[in-house]
Amino acid sequence: MLAKPRLFISLAKCSPGSLRLSHNFSTAGSESMKRICIVGSGPAGFYFAQNIFKKLPNVAVDVYEKLPVPFGLVRYGVAPDHPEVKNVINTFEKVASNKNFRFVGNVTLGRDLTFADLKNAYDSVVLAYGCSHDKELGIPGERVPKVLSARRFVGWYNGLPEDRDLQVDLDCESVVILGQGNVAVDVARILLSPIDMLKGTDITEYSLEALAASRVKTVHLAGRRGPLQAAFTIKEFREMTKLPDVQTILDSSHFEGVEQLVPTLPRARKRLTELLLSTSKQKQSGYRSFKPTFLHKPVEILSSGTALESVRFELNSIDQEKGTVKGRGQFEKIDCGLVLRSIGYQGTCPDPDIPFDSTRGVVLKEDGICSTGWIHTGPTGVILSTMSDAYEQSNLLVEDLQKNNSPSRKHGFADIQSKLRSKGIVTVDFDGWRKIDSVEVERGATKGKPREKIVSIDKMLEIGGKT
Ligand SMILES: Cc1cc2nc3c(=O)[nH]c(=O)nc-3n(C[C@H](O)[C@H](O)[C@H](O)COP(=O)(O)OP(=O)(O)OC[C@H]3O[C@@H](n4cnc5c(N)ncnc54)[C@H](O)[C@@H]3O)c2cc1C
Repeated sequence: MLAKPRLFISLAKCSPGSLRLSHNFSTAGSESMKRICIVGSGPAGFYFAQNIFKKLPNVAVDVYEKLPVPFGLVRYGVAPDHPEVKNVINTFEKVASNKNFRFVGNVTLGRDLTFADLKNAYDSVVLAYGCSHDKELGIPGERVPKVLSARRFVGWYNGLPEDRDLQVDLDCESVVILGQGNVAVDVARILLSPIDMLKGTDITEYSLEALAASRVKTVHLAGRRGPLQAAFTIKEFREMTKLPDVQTILDSSHFEGVEQLVPTLPRARKRLTELLLSTSKQKQSGYRSFKPTFLHKPVEILSSGTALESVRFELNSIDQEKGTVKGRGQFEKIDCGLVLRSIGYQGTCPDPDIPFDSTRGVVLKEDGICSTGWIHTGPTGVILSTMSDAYEQSNLLVEDLQKNNSPSRKHGFADIQSKLRSKGIVTVDFDGWRKIDSVEVERGATKGKPREKIVSIDKMLEIGGKT
């Protein structure tokens, strides 16, 4: 007869918490294992976890995510016709395959858990929850149904559950986008792309149908400043100039005094300005138009009943060398049936215990508070700059943890799990996400798309959730 395996647990040394078994607790060396949690599973959260695993041998990282699915704006922001950008997901999947990584989807800080809950359960809490609101212009007429934020429009075509029912009326010929950053250009491109260019992407089926029926012919991209201050980058602008059946129309009067400054410009700005100048001189054809419109400051949005009529702008003059603008006291209207406001994302504070600068919309730097990504830097920058920030901030945390060698007294997920269970919250782990992922890929395959995103949270939980 085989001897029964003996359990070497000295009850005298056990605290109630240490008897709770969890994935992290069962890992070798767990008594000295530091427990870190990250709030938000976008690029900042994943790159932070990646560097922590690289630098610390004995650490558990739990990532809490508001949505049942991971990857933040890589899934819900990056344009569907830029699939190559989403390849970063391969790196994130490798991070998730670390045995000490845990994804806890469908858990919202500030609703399901407090900041204090996390601080009590973990050695370090890292805030990487991004910026999920947007700035407003504060001009009359802005709050009508046909003025949408570009953020929500992006969420709509990318299948963000909270935006799937957004009322997007494309039964008009002219759209004004207020703002000239890369998000604004993404939105313009989606509105003007021939539908066949979008069919094979992971754009949601309902938005594909709406875009196929769209009557939009002209998209204005309006900004207060001049061509030398344009916030979009050359790659995005060049893509617009190459869209089939779309002419890019620039007003040559906005370029007065620009050409002579070109030799003095930094390289990236020089190349973009040269492309803008050459495009402004080219004869083009196409039944649709893309019109970057500089030196236009929106002052009012005019509607009649439920119909949007136009945006009224004050024309600005510019000192090209200094880049400063001032109103000329002259006004112009651009007729349109839809306005998309694209003047930036805004960070918010989900819990009053988080030190927060509500003007800048960023988490404040304080001892013991660790934040990264857009909620740390503000909502600018691409995945690469977000990665640099995550590496920088995680290096600081590693230094702190290395200074403090005392064993962890925190119980990590074991504590949080009991809280979530007592509230009846269904969570999704990384295997649950894999199930959702494979259903999406299967659904997409029938339509010749890389995936057809599930846009209902209930459906996601039905496939990947567990209580
Ligand atoms: C429309 C758009 C297109 C873009 N396209 C590109 C591109 O083509 N190339 C490129 O390099 N960069 C692009 N970017 C920039 C890039 O997406 C960002 O640099 C990056 O996503 C920022 O990462 P983050 O982790 O800080 O935030 P996010 O990606 O926003 O991740 C934050 C995560 O936190 C979660 N969260 C929010 N609140 C809570 C809460 N209370 N509790 C728990 N979880 C929460 C969110 O659901 C989200 O998953 C684009 C950005 C936008 C807006």
